[in-house]
Amino acid sequence: MWYPGHMAKASKQISKLIKLVDVVIELLDARAPLASRSYSKAPFRAKKRLIFLGKSDIADAKTTELWERHFQASNEEVFVFDKDTDRRKVINFLAKHTDRGSLLIVVGVPNVGKSTLINKLKGKRSAQVGATPGITRSLQWFSVEGLFRVLDTPGLLLPELWSVELGAKLLLIGSLSVEMVDEKVMQRAYQIYARIANLEERDLNAFLEKYALEKRMLSKGGVPDLDRARVNFFNWIAQGKFGRISFETPQEVDQDKGDSVSSA
Ligand code: GDP
Repeated sequence: MWYPGHMAKASKQISKLIKLVDVVIELLDARAPLASRSYSKAPFRAKKRLIFLGKSDIADAKTTELWERHFQASNEEVFVFDKDTDRRKVINFLAKHTDRGSLLIVVGVPNVGKSTLINKLKGKRSAQVGATPGITRSLQWFSVEGLFRVLDTPGLLLPELWSVELGAKLLLIGSLSVEMVDEKVMQRAYQIYARIANLEERDLNAFLEKYALEKRMLSKGGVPDLDRARVNFFNWIAQGKFGRISFETPQEVDQDKGDSVSSA
């Protein structure tokens, strides 16, 4: 789990970084955009923001379209992409939505694809690079064809409020690992996945027993190795190896909001 100390430190660092930039690229996981946006937006409220919905190659295509429209409806600029999206397309979008020479930062929760995006923008040829004066040496930027500049270091953001539901979705997208969550969160993550994937088994551990046997993950004596199965199962989900799946839809989230309003 995350501790308040960690969060306070992370948010202090991010606030410093964000003061320096002109534009914030909020990188969200297309499979759970709201769960991956559960951090405080306070540090960059005043900045121009662009929403990038990443990992769209392993998200459900129809659901991603709904999310794109959902964000557009609230006047947000959205770009849907994945690691194989043509670099030119990404550059064109950014050039269109930023002033020439702007300094950009990529922010997001752990494992959402920040480094992958930064490396894509960097490209193969060495780009013109510079350092931001007065800041630590490590804070460097590179220029993309003289159009805009990108900070080399991504901004790591952590969820502001914690809930089992949020933890479950962050586990499903690989932003949290099984070692970081408790049984309740894993069970909820399994429920979400099982409903979407039409699995009959209701209980995670009963499912993992069968999964371990099928995958020949056995301990000495032929006993199903549940620890190994658990790690493998959630890794596979996070990496989209069971197919293209999204874990939340705009409708569900609106529905939840409606429920909480009516019960208030
Ligand atoms: P960071 O922690 O936010 O910097 O995330 P990384 O860039 O290190 O990516 C985390 C993991 O997600 C790595 O295993 C990447 O290969 C993978 N990844 C990044 N972008 C994509 C994508 O568009 N599609 C898929 N399927 N995997 C991706």
